[in-house]
Amino acid sequence: MADYNVIVIGAGPAGYVAAIRCAQLGMTTACVDKWLTHDGKPSLGGTCLNVGCIPSKALLDSSHRYYFLQKHAALHGIQCEGLSIDVTAMQARKDEVVKTLTKGIAGLFKKNKITFVEGTARLGDNKQVEVTAHDGNTKILAADNIIIATGSVPAQIPVAPIDDELIVDSTGALAFDSVPKRLGVIGAGAIGLELGCVWSRLGSQVTILEALPDFMAMADRKIAAAAQRELKKQGLDLQLGANVTAATVANNEVTVSYQNKKGEQQLVVDKLIVAVGRKPNVEGLEADKTGIQINERGFIEVEGHCQTSMLGIYAIGDVIGGPMLAHKGSEEGVMVAERLVGQKSEMSYETIPWVIYTSPEIAWVGKTEEQLKATGVEYKVGQFPFAASGRARAHGDTSGMVRIIADAQTDRVLGVHIFGISASELITEAVVAMEFESSAEDLARTIHAHPTLSEALHEAALGVDGRMIHA
Ligand code: FAD
Ligand code: AMP
Repeated sequence: MADYNVIVIGAGPAGYVAAIRCAQLGMTTACVDKWLTHDGKPSLGGTCLNVGCIPSKALLDSSHRYYFLQKHAALHGIQCEGLSIDVTAMQARKDEVVKTLTKGIAGLFKKNKITFVEGTARLGDNKQVEVTAHDGNTKILAADNIIIATGSVPAQIPVAPIDDELIVDSTGALAFDSVPKRLGVIGAGAIGLELGCVWSRLGSQVTILEALPDFMAMADRKIAAAAQRELKKQGLDLQLGANVTAATVANNEVTVSYQNKKGEQQLVVDKLIVAVGRKPNVEGLEADKTGIQINERGFIEVEGHCQTSMLGIYAIGDVIGGPMLAHKGSEEGVMVAERLVGQKSEMSYETIPWVIYTSPEIAWVGKTEEQLKATGVEYKVGQFPFAASGRARAHGDTSGMVRIIADAQTDRVLGVHIFGISASELITEAVVAMEFESSAEDLARTIHAHPTLSEALHEAALGVDGRMIHA
């Protein structure tokens, strides 16, 4: 007989949410995770809480405050003489935020009567899971269903090997104990941009090397162009079409060689962050030995509803690919749990929001103009600049715009793209609208409080029909 109805492997945002939903639905649930703190204690929450979303946002917030006080406070009549940074204190605050939240998940497990099992899980036959704890003890557990949520780890490139001293991955870059004078970043994806912004705001001279010729190739072109201009204004040196070919350490500095259209170039920095994406984590799981299909890029293959090639074994989150975002994994976890008890839950892959936490933020949902052009869909666009928003002006942060793309025939909202203050929060209105298959007219007829940043969405919706009031 099985020990549990469900064993979840991995307690990141995909796994812990799946475990909680399973328990809420009355299934006996265990969750296995191997993550330990520096002092050897289990730390739930996976990449997201320990070395991802949360610590990066904590440092973005601290660095944003410092940057504001240094560059903009005087405009508000606030004088800040003798301003300085204490990186140790900043890191301690970040660590405290992480600790509180990871402990919170342990509390949620207790509340929902989920059995937490510390250790590394290996899949056996007949839905058995062998767990080897940090102290070497091993136990074998069996379940009616298994949910694999083992996540991802930073991708590495042989030309810039991580030494955890001068050449670091995102985890190392979240733990610098001082502000590097010259900082190189390989990769202008969300992680490279966010970490570049943290240290640039704190005073590093940051150069970001990106192999692709286009900035943020996945984003709306006008939004990407506006963000690129703004980041340049903030002092980030963004080198596009720059393919890194080598990084060598000597005399306590890193010499980075890269190739661009002008030929071979060199950059000398004090620290180098390698932020070239993330790869699925199936290490130690031995999933392939049980017949679970893994594709050539290392992701666990799933069919609709996250079912692997083995009946009763599911996989969710980063380990199956698609958008490597915490909320995508969490919703997959909810869907799998609910389907296990016969509910007909579905994932809305078309309305997953994307956010990049630069300042101002970049956020979008749905299709870009380029994607619609490629499929021959006719569309209309409404665009409203934050410069015309009373609330953005009161804030003193007027860069960027909202762009709403709607079907030319039906007026249905097909995509919303925002570059501007609080875009990460504003995008949710667009997600709700798209989830309910709203038209631009629905948004235009919705009363928005004044003065709010969300009025920019209202105006952009009016703009789809050429009737903006304030621009
Ligand atoms: P993970 O969070 O990677 O968790 C997997 C867990 O499984 C880990 O705890 C691991 O210890 C455990 N595990 C693995 N193998 C085993 C095994 N064999 N046995 C036992 N346990 C195992 N996403 C966003 O949506 N928003 C953001 O702002 C954001 N910012 C980010 C910033 C940074 C710097 C980074 C690195 C990532 C960021 N992400 C962000 C991405 C986000 O962290 C991931 O998409 C998310 O954590 C994936 O969740 P997951 O549960 O699939 O996997
Ligand atoms: P993401 O996968 O969104 O986190 O982004 C990672 C970025 O790193 C991608 O845009 C890649 O083009 C970029 N990248 C990968 N390898 C290199 C390299 N050798 N030199 C410069 N950029 C790279």
